[in-house]
Amino acid sequence: MIWIIFIAVAIASFAVQASLNAKFKKYSKIPVGLTGREVAYKMLQANGITDVKIISTPGQLTDHYNPTNKTVNLSEGVYNSANVAAAAVAAHECGHAVQHAHAYAPLKMRSSLVPVVNFASKWMQWLLLAGIIFVESFPQLLLVGIILFATTTLFSFITLPVEIDASRRALAWLSNAGITNYSTQGPAKDALKTAAYTYVIAALGSLASLIYYIMIFTGRRN
Ligand SMILES: [Zn+2]
Repeated sequence: MIWIIFIAVAIASFAVQASLNAKFKKYSKIPVGLTGREVAYKMLQANGITDVKIISTPGQLTDHYNPTNKTVNLSEGVYNSANVAAAAVAAHECGHAVQHAHAYAPLKMRSSLVPVVNFASKWMQWLLLAGIIFVESFPQLLLVGIILFATTTLFSFITLPVEIDASRRALAWLSNAGITNYSTQGPAKDALKTAAYTYVIAALGSLASLIYYIMIFTGRRN
């Protein structure tokens, strides 16, 4: 049964990623009046945020907001391009900056989990591997591995409201500010919705793995 879930998650993950790439390619061809950098600048200004820097970062789909140094990091394609996909991504990352400025509770919770998740990510593979090998003689190893892994599962679920809220703020502002119109609001919404699905799939995949490890632990002989 658990293997069916794993395969379903893998197929869904592949399908969503392919759909995301196709949609971004398609919506990158629909022009808007401002580049990603200009959209970000306007949205931050409109929200009274003056202490957040907008910087260009290498790579594709590497866009993110960094709360530790208050930077909106836009990939080169988003930073310099004036299209619906770029505008949607830029506004979404600014949505995180707005969450940060308003001390949005799920973002605060997510940020406070980052050091825990970094620690867990460093050790959990080894503890889970050793834990599975020595599950009969020394089950405590696997239990510690499961606890560490569970923090990463929790993290991927707390990420969901943070991502969905950032997209909601982005779409509302894009429309109100007149960056998108009746024909471009739909594509902007579709791009961000598809991006959100990748987080949903990641969270479900993490939960399936957690259940798998718990099954090994509870299924041991003694
Ligand atoms: Zn985001």
